[in-house]
Amino acid sequence: MKRPTILVLGAGYGGLMTVTNLQKKLGVNEAEIVLINKNSYHYESTWLHEAAAGTLEPNEVRYEIKDVIDQSKVNFIQAEVTKIDVDEKVVLSTAGEHTYDYLVIALGFEGETFGIPGLEEHAFSIANVLAARRIRDHIEYQFSTWATEQEGERDDSRLTFVVGGAGFTGIEFLGELGNQVPVWCDAYDVPREKVRVICVEAAPMVLPGFDPELVDYAVAQLESKGIEFSIGTPLVEATEEGVKIKTGEEEFEFIETKTVVWAAGVRGNRLIEETNIESARARVRVEPDLRAPGREDVFIVGDCAFMINEAENRPYPPTAQIAMQQGQQCAANIASLLAKKPTTAFVPDLKGSVCSLGSDDAIGVVFGKKVTGGTASFMKKMVDNRALFMVGGLGLTMKKGKFDLL
Ligand code: FAD
Ligand code: NAD
Repeated sequence: MKRPTILVLGAGYGGLMTVTNLQKKLGVNEAEIVLINKNSYHYESTWLHEAAAGTLEPNEVRYEIKDVIDQSKVNFIQAEVTKIDVDEKVVLSTAGEHTYDYLVIALGFEGETFGIPGLEEHAFSIANVLAARRIRDHIEYQFSTWATEQEGERDDSRLTFVVGGAGFTGIEFLGELGNQVPVWCDAYDVPREKVRVICVEAAPMVLPGFDPELVDYAVAQLESKGIEFSIGTPLVEATEEGVKIKTGEEEFEFIETKTVVWAAGVRGNRLIEETNIESARARVRVEPDLRAPGREDVFIVGDCAFMINEAENRPYPPTAQIAMQQGQQCAANIASLLAKKPTTAFVPDLKGSVCSLGSDDAIGVVFGKKVTGGTASFMKKMVDNRALFMVGGLGLTMKKGKFDLL
């Protein structure tokens, strides 16, 4: 009898957790597990701000998928998915056509530009490891170019860096930049006072909705590293010369810059919008057991899935923490279906959140307790190491883990 095929799209947190849990739960004869991912490697999306700011080598952020899967059980195909047809039960990729009995869509996030003019063309997004590498190279190029321009003809806008959005991504990136700017100033003989790093936030506060005391701590720490904040001033346009921000009812300001890093929100993968599954911003409101509505054979995990936290009557945020837990539940539910047992509803087990402010500082709420500084930074590294451990065990953790504060 033909084994059922489980086709997993994407080897981010959600996809890899699904696959590594499936390979533990199922014997070779029980199912054929196929994993498709664009690259041969997985990258830690939660470390991308470090690669983008140049505080961590981009290669440190990634590891080979073959190192964490059991190749006797999982057929890994390196290819880009180009179309998902859930009616015909077929997926197209650059490697060909793939059929399935169960499909898991775990294709992750993309930056959301909300249709703001000029952003697609003129802003960078910390969307994947190659994009992060490009941001780092671009910023360093601005330093080296300014430094070698003729005195009197220098373009100072090269040394103005705008970060759009003071959510977790924006703040974590600013924390790294705050540490890295002095390194580049030193390397390229650039006076620190020539460099401006400006964070533009639409909401009336940094990290909207987060604990105000922790937010004050974060802002003070970042300001002490020379970061400027423009709060309550949405970015409304980006051009080749800079960005326009709305500073009042009818008032606007233009900031000249060659570097806009857009960190003002995420959406799901655009391929979702080309399927016959209903979505909003490419995120699908999944059933409690993580299946797409009305689809018995399609699971969606990670940032492409959308769930409401009923207790707080608001959506769960798209996070790695949730993506990983969904991957575990998705694997358990597929194993149940193969064993003709009922599926189980996904219930997130939220342990808190920690936002880094550079490699040496952070803020967070962990198990309901507020933490700052070295303690919070240590916890952030533990969270990062735990994610490695959950996917690749001790071997991967020892190879890629963060142990500089232990
Ligand atoms: P992803 O991790 O985005 O993985 C998707 C995978 O699909 C990738 O491997 C990608 O290459 C692949 N893929 C995409 N398109 C295709 C295609 N067409 N064909 C084939 N493969 C494809 N969350 C936390 O909980 N804690 C944190 O500290 C944290 N820090 C963050 C820091 C930054 C800078 C950012 C940007 C996000 C952070 N997040 C954090 C959020 C977290 O990274 C995401 O929620 C998480 O990555 C979502 O996991 P995922 O599996 O859905 O997708
Ligand atoms: P976000 O949606 O959390 O924050 C985006 C920010 O951009 C908001 O503060 C918003 O007000 C602002 N913004 C929106 N439009 C704007 C405009 N026109 N001009 C200026 N500012 C504008 O997005 P994010 O920070 O990318 O985070 C995405 C997800 O990843 C979240 O779920 C977050 O929790 C998660 N994440 C977690 C961590 C962590 O746990 N350490 C780190 C990074 C990201």
